[in-house]
Amino acid sequence: MLNLNQARTHNDPFLINNIMELLKTVILGSGPAGYTAAIYAGRSGITPVIYEGLQPGGQLTQTTDVDNFPGYPQGVDGNVLMDDLRSQAIRFGAEIRTTLCTAADLSQRPFTLTFDDGSQVKTETLIIATGATAKYLGLPDEEKYRGIGVSACATCDGFFYRKKKVAVVGGGDTACEEATYLAGLAEKVYLIVRKPYLRASQAMQDRVFSNEKIEILFETNTVGLFGKDGVEGAHLVRRKGEPDEEKFDIAIDGFFLAIGHNPNSEIFRKWINVDETGYIKTEGQTPRTNIPGVFAAGDVADPLYRQAVTAAAAGCKAAIEVKAFLDEHNS
Ligand code: NDP
Repeated sequence: MLNLNQARTHNDPFLINNIMELLKTVILGSGPAGYTAAIYAGRSGITPVIYEGLQPGGQLTQTTDVDNFPGYPQGVDGNVLMDDLRSQAIRFGAEIRTTLCTAADLSQRPFTLTFDDGSQVKTETLIIATGATAKYLGLPDEEKYRGIGVSACATCDGFFYRKKKVAVVGGGDTACEEATYLAGLAEKVYLIVRKPYLRASQAMQDRVFSNEKIEILFETNTVGLFGKDGVEGAHLVRRKGEPDEEKFDIAIDGFFLAIGHNPNSEIFRKWINVDETGYIKTEGQTPRTNIPGVFAAGDVADPLYRQAVTAAAAGCKAAIEVKAFLDEHNS
């Protein structure tokens, strides 16, 4: 099959317009997994094409300082970190495109990807690094205070709330884990749980119940946040809609959401095996999916760790796999 570059060499407008571009490797997503995959692929001579997606730079562009990415002793602004990774990927030859992938046909190789501008490409290999999106309650105040008191990652931002008061929303394992983590830093942690019980595993519950710094507010919903230049408190309602409904406020400096994440795997689910919540399943320690030539890296395949550095590591592995796959298939 002729690819687009060959058609251009023939300088034939019909071929150029009608032959789909054939690429060796497409990386979907531009978080730490995507850019790291591009750096490694570029260095191995593959020339990857990255489609940045809806949020170029990924979740880290939503946070302020990143203190836990190795190599930055003074911490680094999330946007700066992602710009640095992007520049590094470009330095090694990655081509960055801004359209959004809206459909994937992985039924045969080369795989066909469709984008929001109607364009299509074919690719020999694919790295899915589309990340996950933290769920929010949907309150306008979450948007207003995002990055100045509202966060969906205690491990990323908890350090800024040392000896302060914070609240965590949620009753699952993540919420309990984050509340426990924050209790090691903060003066007090409220755990705001909408049901009269925790959904978390017993071990997690035990840790929360036995921690004196954590106060659990059962049957409680958040209806708003307040504060002048950042979060200073939350408006809460206990037993909302019941005859004994009670409205009250708590004073807090940080408001953490831990009500789950949505892995951005929807368009691949027809082909790729995912778990019950949509995270892509990979083979053991590898980023291999059930389809040879398709790899998944970062939060879209990681319900557990969800850290920038683990995503970067997975991106590295995916690029190494791509190189081996292309070599094996003489592509
Ligand atoms: P879960 O879906 O397990 O829990 C989400 C929690 O958020 C529930 O308590 C839910 O309440 C609450 N919630 C959801 N929407 C709202 C809302 N709009 N308002 C208020 N509360 C809301 O998500 P997790 O992220 O906790 O866990 C995801 C998976 O990862 C689980 O399988 C978990 O076991 C696993 N995990 C394991 C860990 C470990 O083993 N170390 C650590 C972290 C996660 P409700 O109960 O009322 O639905």
